[in-house]
Amino acid sequence: MKYVIIGSSAAGINAIRELRKYDQEGEVVLVSRDQSIYSRCILHQYLSGERTLERLNFAEPDFDTLYNVNWMKGREAVGLRPAQHILELDGKEELSYDRLLIATGSHTFIPPIKGLQEAENYIGFRNIDDIEVLREVPKKAKHIVVLGSGLIGIDCATGFLHMGVRVALVDFADWLLNKQLDERAARTYIDAFKAQGVDQYYGVGVSEVRVDENHQIYEIVLSDGTVLPCDYFVITAGVRSNVEFLRDSGLELSRFGLVYDESGRTSDPDVYGAGDVSGQSPIWPAAVKEGMVAAANMAGQRKKMTDYFASKSTMSFLGIHTMSLGIVTPPDDSCRVDIYDKDGVYKKVVSRDGVIIGALLQGDLAYGGVLQQMIARRIDVTRVKKPLFEIDYSDFFHEKANLEFAYEF
Ligand SMILES: Cc1cc2nc3c(=O)[nH]c(=O)nc-3n(C[C@H](O)[C@H](O)[C@H](O)COP(=O)(O)OP(=O)(O)OC[C@H]3O[C@@H](n4cnc5c(N)ncnc54)[C@H](O)[C@@H]3O)c2cc1C
Repeated sequence: MKYVIIGSSAAGINAIRELRKYDQEGEVVLVSRDQSIYSRCILHQYLSGERTLERLNFAEPDFDTLYNVNWMKGREAVGLRPAQHILELDGKEELSYDRLLIATGSHTFIPPIKGLQEAENYIGFRNIDDIEVLREVPKKAKHIVVLGSGLIGIDCATGFLHMGVRVALVDFADWLLNKQLDERAARTYIDAFKAQGVDQYYGVGVSEVRVDENHQIYEIVLSDGTVLPCDYFVITAGVRSNVEFLRDSGLELSRFGLVYDESGRTSDPDVYGAGDVSGQSPIWPAAVKEGMVAAANMAGQRKKMTDYFASKSTMSFLGIHTMSLGIVTPPDDSCRVDIYDKDGVYKKVVSRDGVIIGALLQGDLAYGGVLQQMIARRIDVTRVKKPLFEIDYSDFFHEKANLEFAYEF
């Protein structure tokens, strides 16, 4: 059996580890544009100099030898002919396969901003190559504008702190980390970033970049008319799945990305997909799990994706710890909201019909374990006898008639 995996990141690497559990003999070829294995989640620490390239690697240092993989580094998949089981690579090379895994992730979406087409000093924040460029930027630039204040934009701003540059964050949303936080929790970070000298502009977009005769952006015009000085522009506001090379393949694609089922199988029975390439759940743990599930099925096992991590985020920017679960801003009046807000600790639980649908913890995540138990066990919070935020693990233990302790609510 010959397996070809495209992509050497969360989904692809974990797929190979899983594949080798079931098939030690088969041939495994890994094709990736990336020349090294690294975690995108900690790229900002490479930007700030806290980590070396080696310390971004989340796999074994001798991964390809250990798993007996022929790794074609720095190569690009440019086309696919599923009927012939042929993957087309750059340089007009063709690679045959029996089973193929597409784990190509996504790329930064460059929005159609006036003036941007003529500009050269802008970039996304996704690949190690982006960060290599950005590491050099503070040597020449003084004003960096970051478009997007989601997890990636905040990573980027954090990476630039203490590098002698002025960073401005711009976002259409009314506050940062808008998908994960409510306004109260966001305020803690907004104030902390302000104290670190980060300028922030919310509820506005970028309507124009002004470019000089050397194709360099020197000013950014916001939708409310504000003009910001800018020597480098970083775009983190959107992504698109890496499916361009599949356009003529006949594989089913949605407007978000590659379509595959719970076992990872695409519309072709010998082609699988995993990770961000689906455009569905673009977080690390989902990519890892999907890669493992797809690989097991490629090797003849029967596994399905059962865990969905849709909206759990844990973050620790500027030393402030926050956990966000599910829906944190109630969509309508049918929800009950319980809040604890004291001495730098903020806790919020959103429930509907007694069932928790979302929660936020900031400043102290100790309650996270209890909360996750309540969510997993679908505890009816209307029946809780004590104040919600005073429940602790001991409330889950009960003595049975035979004097054994049982872990139940
Ligand atoms: C800055 C940043 C911070 C993040 N922080 C978090 C976080 O804190 N928590 C969290 O859960 N998630 C985070 N994420 C998201 C997480 O990194 C992704 O969900 C995860 O990397 C997806 O893994 P993947 O394997 O699907 O794709 P990717 O990591 O995108 O990797 C795709 C792979 O495919 C290769 N490739 C692409 N196209 C081709 C082609 N045509 N030919 C050959 N090779 C190709 C690439 O070189 C790469 O090796 C972050 C992402 C970024 C960018």
